[in-house]
Amino acid sequence: MTAQPAAPDVFHLYDTTLRDGAQQEGLRLTVSDKLKIARVLDDLGVGFIEGGWPGANPSDTAFFAAAAAGELELRHAKLTAFGATRRVGARAADDPLTRALVDAQTEVICLVAKSHDEHVFRALKTTLDENLAMVADTVRFLTGEGRRVFVDVEHFFDGYRANPAYALEVVRAAAEAGAEVVVLCDTNGGMLPAWMGEVVSAASDIGVDLGVHCHNDTGCAVANTLAAVDAGVMHVQGTINGHGERTGNADLITVAANLRLKYGWPVLSDEHLARATSVSHAVAAITHVAPNARQPYVGQSAFAHKAGLHASAIKVDANLYQHTDPRLVGNDMRMLVSDMAGRANIQLKGDELGFDLSDRDLAARITDVVKQREMDGYSYESADASFELLLREQTDALDPAFEVQRWRVLTSDEVSEEGDSEATVKVRVGDAVVSRVGEGFGPLNALDHALRSALETEHPDVETFELTDYRVRILETGHGTDAIVRVLIDTTDGERSWTTVGVGTNVVEASWEALHDAYLWGLHTRAA
Ligand SMILES: [Zn+2]
Repeated sequence: MTAQPAAPDVFHLYDTTLRDGAQQEGLRLTVSDKLKIARVLDDLGVGFIEGGWPGANPSDTAFFAAAAAGELELRHAKLTAFGATRRVGARAADDPLTRALVDAQTEVICLVAKSHDEHVFRALKTTLDENLAMVADTVRFLTGEGRRVFVDVEHFFDGYRANPAYALEVVRAAAEAGAEVVVLCDTNGGMLPAWMGEVVSAASDIGVDLGVHCHNDTGCAVANTLAAVDAGVMHVQGTINGHGERTGNADLITVAANLRLKYGWPVLSDEHLARATSVSHAVAAITHVAPNARQPYVGQSAFAHKAGLHASAIKVDANLYQHTDPRLVGNDMRMLVSDMAGRANIQLKGDELGFDLSDRDLAARITDVVKQREMDGYSYESADASFELLLREQTDALDPAFEVQRWRVLTSDEVSEEGDSEATVKVRVGDAVVSRVGEGFGPLNALDHALRSALETEHPDVETFELTDYRVRILETGHGTDAIVRVLIDTTDGERSWTTVGVGTNVVEASWEALHDAYLWGLHTRAA
């Protein structure tokens, strides 16, 4: 086996799920989704999170404003604003889009610059010299404002093929103006691994730190990224689950796991790497893009073995049948269908929520319950509140604030001012049994009103509870209207927000379960 290159002193894992990843067909991220994904990325331990393009679209501007207002506290990652070099013929200091980058208040800014001569002529409709001036002026202005500046040179590999001297000239202009890293982008995704080294080496001669940004159009995004690393880049860009337009971007988890486990480079700590599987699943739950079971390292099938011939041999030595230990990435070897990782992960998760699950029998029992629930369609990766309720139930640490005796809801085509649905909820609260009717638009809204009304005398805190998001996913397609549905509900009390999950063949039943958990968790943790 060939020896791997030594790790550079500084190495950047740069995530662009929120910007380039969000270009994926059919993907829509709200500001709240973006904040959630950013927190998950921080848990993975990436160095940089590109949040979007402030000034270019209102939701990205709102995201940076929310982050600056304290809604996003990052422990590891630096939030990065993305933007373009100034307009043709303007001054960077006077360009409103350049200003918007400064206003985003991030320490790091990533600028995109043209490096392919034909794109300068046809897209920018300007001269090669003016493009160089745009790069230099914008980088100088932003570094003058105290920002660390990375420059994405787009279409660099195609540009190098068409006009190598000019493509390199753009890299030099960015470097001389003070860019900390120049990122070579395979924007069209047409490169192959064997072609990467020569181009990266040519840019290396300029003497600036280099990065790489690959798309997966040849199915080689990860391989091209590694080839660029071999040629000396110290900064890699990618997205969680390979999200991105067309065939997607380099999957940052696969890249990071390869660098950590195959190269032995400390790009992520062991603890962070062990969260990779849950991070991948959490992002899938938020983006509503079903996880790819065959995704390297973190896919459900990544370490799945069909029972049979291999079964007994695997028991003797599992390492004979897998390329790495799945626990290192928070995944699990499976002989049967089970979605969530095993006991170690449950213990880790329990720790995180303040539960001592060091007792092996207890942890194994809870793992069995979780596996069973996940087979039934539950997903706890993003529903921490439901998971905590499950742990409390299993450890007899739940003293429920209320118990539901019965519920029902009617929806009709008659729409009044109060809505089209009427719900009745009967609950035991303390010593009293309370029955209330609630009206609303849609069954969930009516149930929410009825439950809130039944609880408010004994638990006035419910007044602060607000449902902020509601997502439904059909799990078993092909069954038509009989399909199993999973509902995720996000709730806030103004200070905290939490997510709960419900599952059923009936969307109302699944919604009710998630709603019930939302109130139970909210009241339990406020009382505690
Ligand atoms: Zn891209």
